[in-house]
Amino acid sequence: MKVGIIGAGAAGLAAAYELTRQGCQAEVFEQAPFVGGQASTFLVGGGRLERGYHHLFVSDQDMVELIQELGLGDKLAWLESKVGVFHRGKVWPFSTPLDLLRFRPLPFWQRVRVGLWSLALQRTRDWRKFEDITAQEWLARHMGRHACEVIWEPLLRGKFGAHFDQVSMVWLWGKFYLRVASRKGAGRREVLGYPMGSFGEVFDTLAQRVAQQGGRISLSSSVRRINVQDNAAVGLEVALPGREPEALAYDAVIATTPSYVFTQLVPPMPPAYQEKLERARYLAAVVLVLALDRPLSNIYWMNIADRQIPFVGVIEHTNLVDRSLYGGKHLVYLTNYPGRDSELYQKSGEQLLQEFIPHLRKINPEFDASWVLEHYHHRVDGAQPIVGRQYSQRIPDHRTPIRNLYLANTTQIYPEDRGTNYSVRLGRQVARLLLADQGKPWPAA
Ligand SMILES: Cc1cc2nc3c(=O)[nH]c(=O)nc-3n(C[C@H](O)[C@H](O)[C@H](O)COP(=O)(O)OP(=O)(O)OC[C@H]3O[C@@H](n4cnc5c(N)ncnc54)[C@H](O)[C@@H]3O)c2cc1C
Repeated sequence: MKVGIIGAGAAGLAAAYELTRQGCQAEVFEQAPFVGGQASTFLVGGGRLERGYHHLFVSDQDMVELIQELGLGDKLAWLESKVGVFHRGKVWPFSTPLDLLRFRPLPFWQRVRVGLWSLALQRTRDWRKFEDITAQEWLARHMGRHACEVIWEPLLRGKFGAHFDQVSMVWLWGKFYLRVASRKGAGRREVLGYPMGSFGEVFDTLAQRVAQQGGRISLSSSVRRINVQDNAAVGLEVALPGREPEALAYDAVIATTPSYVFTQLVPPMPPAYQEKLERARYLAAVVLVLALDRPLSNIYWMNIADRQIPFVGVIEHTNLVDRSLYGGKHLVYLTNYPGRDSELYQKSGEQLLQEFIPHLRKINPEFDASWVLEHYHHRVDGAQPIVGRQYSQRIPDHRTPIRNLYLANTTQIYPEDRGTNYSVRLGRQVARLLLADQGKPWPAA
C-alpha cells in the first residue's frame, strides 16, 4: 500500500508518521523548501523562531504526546505567560481574574458580570448550544454591549477582521473552555508550552522519523494535480525540483492543503461536497517580526483594543522564552489577519515597518526606531478558517466523494480552533481511517 500525501505541515507529517509506523509506504510532497508549514521557523540571532508566534496550551495533549514520542519531551518547557490589553493609551494586565477586577475601562459591576460569565463558559462542556448564535450576539446579550465593545470586539476583529460579527460563539467558547486548562495555581496564572528547540525542531524530527520508518519527503515539490480514474484517486502529478511535472502512482492520496487549493487539484466533486469546499473562507496572517536591543513591554501576549493601530496583536516572544536563545535579542511579533486581497496583505516588509513603527510609541512612549536591529516579514496564506454559525453542517468529510482520496485540513477542526495540536490529531486520525478503509466499499461513493 503506497500513499501520496500533499503538504509537509503538521497534518501531512503526522499522517505519514502514522502510516509508516503501521508498515505502509508514504511519500510526502511539500512545495516549500522546508517542512512545518504554518509552524515552520527561520533563523534569528542564531536561534530558530516560528514565522508566526507559536505556543502550546496544557490541553494540547496530542502535540505533547508527539513531542514525547519523538524523544523531545525534556525540551518542552511550561512557562508563565503575561497577557495584556492595550486600551485608550494604556496597557492593562489581563492574566488573572484579579486583573479583570482591576480593569477600570469597565465599571466595576460590569467587570464582575464579565468574570461570572467567563467562569460559566469555562465550565460549559456542551458547545452545541452555541452553534446558532454569533459570539458578538451572545456576548452583548450576556456580558453587556459595552463590555463586548471594550474587551471582546477587538479580540474578534483581531482574528477575523471585517468578518468579526459572523464568528460563531462556538469559536469563542473554545477559547474559554480549553484555555482554562492552561491556568494553574491560586492566582490562576496561565502557563504555555514551548519546545525549547522550536516547533521547527519538532517537525524536522518528525520528518526524520518518517524517513527512518521508510517514508519519503520531497521538498520544493509542488503537486499540480491529483490523478483520478473511474472516480478513484490513482496518483499525483508532481513537479519535483528541476524536473518536468510527472505522474506518480499511489493507492491512496491524503491532501492537507487549504480547501481553495484542493479544489484546484481535483475535478469538480458532486455539488453537496463541492459547495462545502467552496464555502470555506480563510483569512491570511501578516506578521512583522522585530528584533530589538531592549524590551518593548513586560507582556507576552497583548491584544490591541484600538482600531487606529494597524496591528491587532503584539506578541513579545522573549517575554515567554529566554532571549539568550536568540543571541540576546528581544523578539516582538506585530500581527494582523487580513484577507489575501487586502491592501495590508500586499504591502512589503519595509512598508509595514514604516506604517507600524509610529504606533509602538503608544504602547511604550520611550520606544525609538533605533531599538530595531532587524525586521522580518512573513505572510501566511490560509492561516485562519472563518468559523461561522452552524459550522458543523459545513465541514467536508475526510473521505471525499472520490474513492481513496482523503482531505485533512484546518477547516475540519471543530469545535476547537485550529492549531498544531489539532492538525497532528487530524493527520493521525485520517491515516488510521485510510488504513481501516482498506478492502471495504467506499462509503462516500
Ligand atoms: C500566525 C500564526 C500563529 C499561530 N499560532 C499557533 C500557536 O500558538 N499554537 C499552535 O498550536 N498553532 C498555531 N498556529 C496554527 C498552526 O500553525 C496551524 O494550525 C498548523 O500548523 C496547520 O498545519 P497543517 O498541516 O494543517 O497546515 P499547513 O501548515 O498549512 O500545511 C499545509 C502544507 O501544504 C503545503 N502545500 C499546499 N499546497 C501544496 C501543493 N500544491 N503541493 C505541495 N505542497 C502544498 C503548504 O506549503 C503547507 O506546508 C498559528 C498559525 C499562524 C498562521
